[in-house]
Parts: sequence; structure tokens; C-alpha cells
Amino acid sequence: MFATGISFREPNIFRNSLNNLDPPQVGSPCTNNYYLHQTRGEVYGLDHNRERFSAWNVARLRPKTDVEGLFLTGQDVLTCGVCGAMMAGLVTSGAVLGRNVYSDLVKLLKSTKKAKKTD
Ligand SMILES: Cc1cc2nc3c(=O)[nH]c(=O)nc-3n(C[C@H](O)[C@H](O)[C@H](O)COP(=O)(O)OP(=O)(O)OC[C@H]3O[C@@H](n4cnc5c(N)ncnc54)[C@H](O)[C@@H]3O)c2cc1C
Repeated sequence: MFATGISFREPNIFRNSLNNLDPPQVGSPCTNNYYLHQTRGEVYGLDHNRERFSAWNVARLRPKTDVEGLFLTGQDVLTCGVCGAMMAGLVTSGAVLGRNVYSDLVKLLKSTKKAKKTD
């Protein structure tokens, strides 16, 4: 409603494009409740407060668990958002493989650059 209201209350700005507009898509905490089953409306997993980032909790929210062969990943292992979840995937793959996958990536980048130069 808010997005639609903005479009139609500002006819001067949107005059030429109103007919070409796709219906805007917006969400609210209720949307998250419904589609994501996040009963308090949150989209970013654990609350990003000071407690969440205390040394104790950061140490506990790691990929490796006390259950052998069970690893965790996603935004709650590192930090929220698409990049946070992606980096968590990297950290978890490092934990699973038992190696530093960051240095693997650096090596891969260097060899790719070298290969490009010789082409
Ligand atoms: C509306 C909205 C807009 C957003 N916009 C942005 C943005 O612009 N930029 C940004 O950086 N972040 C954005 N985010 C946040 C971002 O999407 C999340 O931080 C990110 O997707 C978290 O990744 P994840 O892998 O931890 O969890 P998810 O992406 O939630 O992945 C978890 C997966 O596990 C599956 N799953 C759950 N339970 C089970 C089960 N029991 N068995 C099997 N599978 C299961 C789910 O179906 C899901 O596919 C947005 C989030 C929402 C909801």
C-alpha cells in the first residue's frame, strides 16, 4: 500500500511511467510471519545486538558442533545478509575440509590472473 500510495501521490514524478509500472512488491513483518514463519517478523536470523556478538556467543556460533559430522552454516554462523550467508558457506566448507579455503581462493585468483597474462 505504501509503495502504491507513493506512486499515485506523486503524479508529476511518475506521470509518464504510471502505465508502464509493474505492480510494486513490498513486504511487512506480517509477510515474513506468513512466508518465512518468522513469528517476530525478523528476516536476518538472530538479533544483531551486543549479546549476539559477545566473544562467548561468537565462539559458540561456529560451523563445527559437538555432534560428529554435523556442521552449521548460514547467516547465524557469521553475520546476516546474502554476503554474510555466502561467507558462512566458505567458513563451513573450511571446517568440513579442515583447511584454509581462503588461501585456496587467493591461490586460485593468482593462477587465473597468471593464465590470463600468458594468453
Ligand atoms: C524479504 C527479504 C529481503 C531481503 N533482502 C536482502 C538484501 O537486499 N540483501 C541482503 O544481503 N539480504 C537480504 N535479505 C536477507 C537474506 O535473504 C538472508 O540474510 C539470507 O538469505 C540468509 O541466508 P541463509 O542461507 O542463512 O538462510 P536462508 O536463505 O533462509 O536459507 C535457509 C534454507 O533452509 C531451508 N530449510 C529451512 N528449514 C529446513 C528444513 N527443516 N529442512 C530442509 N531445509 C530447510 C529453507 O527452505 C531455505 O532454503 C532479505 C531477506 C528477506 C526475507
